[in-house]
Amino acid sequence: MADKVTNIEFDKKGKQNVTVWNVPAEKEHTQIVEEMLETENGKELDMSSLQERLPKLKTIVAKAVASQTLLKHTMPEQDPVVRATNFDEVALGYSAETAIAEARRCLNCPNPRCRTGCPVSVRIPEFIAKVAEGDFDAAYEIITSTNALPAVCGRVCPQERQCESRCVRGVRGESVAIGRLERFVADYHMAKQDKPPVEVPPSNGHKVAVIGSGPAGLTCAGDVRKMGYDVTIFEAFHKSGGVLVYGIPQFRLPKEIVAAEIENLKAIGVKIENNVIVGKSITIDELFEEGYEAVFIGSGAGLPQFLHIPGENLMGVYSANELLTRTNLMKAYRDDYDTPIKRFNKVAVVGAGNVAMDAARVAKRLGASEVHIVYRRSRTEMPARQEEVEHAEAEGIEFNLLNNPCAILGDENGHVIGLECVPQELGDPDARGRRTPIPKEEEKWVMDVDTVIIAIGTSPNPLIRSTTPGLTTTRKGGIDADDMAHTEKVAVFAGGDAVTGSATVILAMGAGKNAAYWIDEYIRRIHGEPPPPPQ
Ligand SMILES: Cc1cc2nc3c(=O)[nH]c(=O)nc-3n(C[C@H](O)[C@H](O)[C@H](O)COP(=O)(O)OP(=O)(O)OC[C@H]3O[C@@H](n4cnc5c(N)ncnc54)[C@H](O)[C@@H]3O)c2cc1C
Ligand code: SF4
Repeated sequence: MADKVTNIEFDKKGKQNVTVWNVPAEKEHTQIVEEMLETENGKELDMSSLQERLPKLKTIVAKAVASQTLLKHTMPEQDPVVRATNFDEVALGYSAETAIAEARRCLNCPNPRCRTGCPVSVRIPEFIAKVAEGDFDAAYEIITSTNALPAVCGRVCPQERQCESRCVRGVRGESVAIGRLERFVADYHMAKQDKPPVEVPPSNGHKVAVIGSGPAGLTCAGDVRKMGYDVTIFEAFHKSGGVLVYGIPQFRLPKEIVAAEIENLKAIGVKIENNVIVGKSITIDELFEEGYEAVFIGSGAGLPQFLHIPGENLMGVYSANELLTRTNLMKAYRDDYDTPIKRFNKVAVVGAGNVAMDAARVAKRLGASEVHIVYRRSRTEMPARQEEVEHAEAEGIEFNLLNNPCAILGDENGHVIGLECVPQELGDPDARGRRTPIPKEEEKWVMDVDTVIIAIGTSPNPLIRSTTPGLTTTRKGGIDADDMAHTEKVAVFAGGDAVTGSATVILAMGAGKNAAYWIDEYIRRIHGEPPPPPQ
């Protein structure tokens, strides 16, 4: 029979009434913590080999209880009424004191489940422990050993579905605010004046080309540069950063932040050539002729999809891409720029992902009196980050859920005057587990709007595949690449949205990181060098 020990009380401040019950020896510490967090005074658990385990248990319980709060520290934000009229950043970031207090909520689990939820394997408990000690420089070193864009990830990654969804703290209460801490550390470093000089990795004499400067391309380029490769990114736009600069709005991800992260990569020797459209200015085969030994395609998925309903060619219909590029890259919202956008009054945004939320919030900031999200499923199925939905609601965006547009109506001059919608009800789940909308045709109605913005997804642009013999594509137009990022064409690798279609920043970064490893493996192999250590 297992030893039984009850009512072990610790005498440090804030830890009264803590009771450790008997726990089987083979359990992981994280499981023990979970059980403790779930156990409210009095529920008995088995416990054996308590003598050896007691010191560790004491530490874990002490931390769990001493950290007092079960909730994340709240993020200071601009007031919703004020922010809906400006393009300044909505979330203002933690102070050093709040960051330290939040970091102290972390239990520093021996088997940190949070880390398994991170596509670039950030050493989460290690960096959080440094934040808790107030050693923000060390925290920055730890994060950037695996993540080249921490200020970006801290702002836009869907942590609630990744690292934070697995945090043991979330079993009872809220997870540790890993993303907010990551952002704090990156911002602290950015603001710091006396940064240590950057070490530029020596060149190994081999050249690698990267197409596209989005998160996939930047991560791949940063990683191969750190391995010693001479790397050049070729970017079609005049500004680098991909969707981070032309898609995600300023109020969510300030462009100065993206520019500063890119400067960090340039400082270690990553070269970027802007205004080069691979497939037009130069082809992939010509890059090989110029001495590049491997090419990574990280060209994203920038081709907007449309509904294919009557009226989509009317004046006042935009793709979300056009609206966002005009406002982000061409600063259409500023009077001192020469690229204005037509003023809206009543706007319908079709779709319910991050792109739709961004388009709706931009339309509101551009002066629309009403902005409606129109989505054919319910709130549960909305793909946008929960935080973005809450922010949109707080700013006055209206949600017309379970409605599918069937036609855009225009006046005699070809301007939008309405969006015809068919109400839906949800039927059985489809192959992806999402409940299928069933139209209620007899209940059709017209929404009174002068602008319709389509935000139902994007697909990869066909230019590169059509100018590169040997590349193959998937049914949805993505470049065919295996788990090692190899395409069907020798020495050509691919990753990010160009392969998967529209996904997330961190998945694109993970793909860029993976490709960097396999590019290194390939170049070593063709030169008869030993393979790199396993990933
Ligand atoms: C409005 C919007 C909001 C989003 N919000 C979020 C969010 O909150 N969180 C999140 O995780 N994800 C979000 N995403 C998705 C995320 O931004 C993308 O998944 C990610 O940027 C993909 O990275 P990538 O490097 O594969 O491609 P991209 O970021 O698209 O970068 C590709 C780059 O390649 C360049 N390029 C294309 N063709 C060529 C060519 N032929 N020659 C040279 N250069 C070329 C493009 O100009 C671009 O700069 C959002 C996307 C959008 C559009
Ligand atoms: S962040 Fe959460 S899961 Fe990760 S070590 Fe801290 S408490 Fe454990």
